[in-house]
Amino acid sequence: MAPMAAYLPVYCSSCAHASLSLAAASEPQICSFCEASARVVPGPIYGDGDWLAFAEIDSAVFDAELDGGQATTLAEELQQLLNEKLDPQAIVQRMIQRLPTLARIRPALVNGLPRGLRMLMTLLVARSRDVPLTVSEYQAATLRAAGDDGQS
Ligand SMILES: [Zn+2]
Repeated sequence: MAPMAAYLPVYCSSCAHASLSLAAASEPQICSFCEASARVVPGPIYGDGDWLAFAEIDSAVFDAELDGGQATTLAEELQQLLNEKLDPQAIVQRMIQRLPTLARIRPALVNGLPRGLRMLMTLLVARSRDVPLTVSEYQAATLRAAGDDGQS
């Protein structure tokens, strides 16, 4: 049996899209939309079956044209809903109310819950770069990623 491929979520500030990259974390990451350099988004690793849903949710978040502050607010709100362990379907409904562009990709969000919500969180965190999240695990991951660059 071949091992499952593992994909890192990466975000490109040139074209404001996130995509899944097959490259190892230590390699330079390339945006699959415009081939500019992209950075790894802290959060879960994804597999072969996640690619399409990730692209669909990214497209809906892209269309919402969130600024860094809005993305941070939504990411914190989603984290809080997840912490409260609400029914994932109810969380999806709440996030669609907050971000109406998500309505058209609802099937990608609800397929295999809570996977879609984890992707939405990754995509919001990717765009919240201007305002550091208060969620400690994401901050720790960001610091580790930044440390890999080496300082001169
Ligand atoms: Zn790009």
